[in-house]
Amino acid sequence: MKKTNPSNAFPLVPMSAPDLTETEQEAVQAVLETTRLSMGGETLGFEDAVRNHIGSRHAIAVSSGTAGLHLCVHAADIKDGDLVITTPFSFVASANVLLFERAVPIFVDIDPLTGNIDPQQVHQAAKDLTAGDLANRKWLPRKGASPEAQLKAILPVDVFGQPADMDPILETAREFDLTVIEDSCEAIGAEYKKRPAGTLGDYGVFAFYPNKQITTGEGAIIVTDDDEAADIMCALRNQGRSPGDTWLQHTYLGYNYRIDEMSAALGRVQMSRLDELLTKREQVANWYQERLDEIPGVETPKVIPDTTRMSWFVYVIRLAPGIDRFRVAEGLKERGIPSRPYFIPIHLQPYMVERFGYKEGDFPITEDLGRRGLAIPFSGVMTEEQVEIVSQILHEVIDTLG
Ligand SMILES: *Cc1c(COP(=O)(O)O)cnc(C)c1O
Repeated sequence: MKKTNPSNAFPLVPMSAPDLTETEQEAVQAVLETTRLSMGGETLGFEDAVRNHIGSRHAIAVSSGTAGLHLCVHAADIKDGDLVITTPFSFVASANVLLFERAVPIFVDIDPLTGNIDPQQVHQAAKDLTAGDLANRKWLPRKGASPEAQLKAILPVDVFGQPADMDPILETAREFDLTVIEDSCEAIGAEYKKRPAGTLGDYGVFAFYPNKQITTGEGAIIVTDDDEAADIMCALRNQGRSPGDTWLQHTYLGYNYRIDEMSAALGRVQMSRLDELLTKREQVANWYQERLDEIPGVETPKVIPDTTRMSWFVYVIRLAPGIDRFRVAEGLKERGIPSRPYFIPIHLQPYMVERFGYKEGDFPITEDLGRRGLAIPFSGVMTEEQVEIVSQILHEVIDTLG
């Protein structure tokens, strides 16, 4: 029997949903009963909570993941024309922050199993780009980069909540004296060989947009063990004010990347529930896996042994090459189930093509996953019944197309 969607319940299951309780509501309400709505105790409390949980020396709350990554780019002294090795299979912000400083992303392809940056290619790129002969040509974009440009950093992304294969990346960074910025915006609470994601490189960033594992509405946190960089990032977040500066003194050209107290209060409470929230998400992922592994043409996400804890961000299935993803998405939508293609490769975004001359075929694994990946509804508040509904409808849609 074909399940139709009653028009009063559209969509049947939301794409994502935050997990909020009365404790979060009370914490935000308590802020609203004070006169301090920014730069107060809630921000410090939120930062403490992350620092203690993650085990970093510093935690700096900011207004978004993009803002956090941008400050890391500053701290790493990445400037006009500098090269940074990163992945084209990510949310655009991880590469955009380089463009903000007129630096050049050097994309390398990914591991087909995890979707994370391929450490062997990172090593080869670093070697060629520092060799000082024509070996670098292979890695540079067709235009928009100078052959004399200097390689400064590596920016791996922990895709979908699974840490990148960091040990070989860190090894490469040591060998060629490069800074590592870990984009852990999708991976708070994840662990790589028992070490927390976000703490593996020089700087890490966790983001808290409402579809992430924990949310502050808008917001993010930078973690680092580097005292000097932490001071600079704190100043740049607050309009360039150094610790000794008065309100209208600005040592640096800074930004307003502050988080507000309502968001920080939300974050502080959500942080105290992190393990509970991650466990719920893991349960939902397990429910999906049991059901979806039975559907021909659908591949479920793979968690590799180096990932000692997965922090489930989204649930992205891969469709077999013969299945038209857009027809699947359309079929799901007609039946009340939202879905999203994940990711559309960064190098093929129009402004990237225009600036650097990328073409289809440049990063085949990224493009292949980009064509086949489909995120289906996922959150920690999903019930087993909702997982069942999505799974059944997906099965039905694939059967119809097959
Ligand atoms: C969410 C996310 C960010 C940050 O996004 P904001 O919307 O700026 O908070 C950065 N990188 C990746 C990979 C992300 O998923």
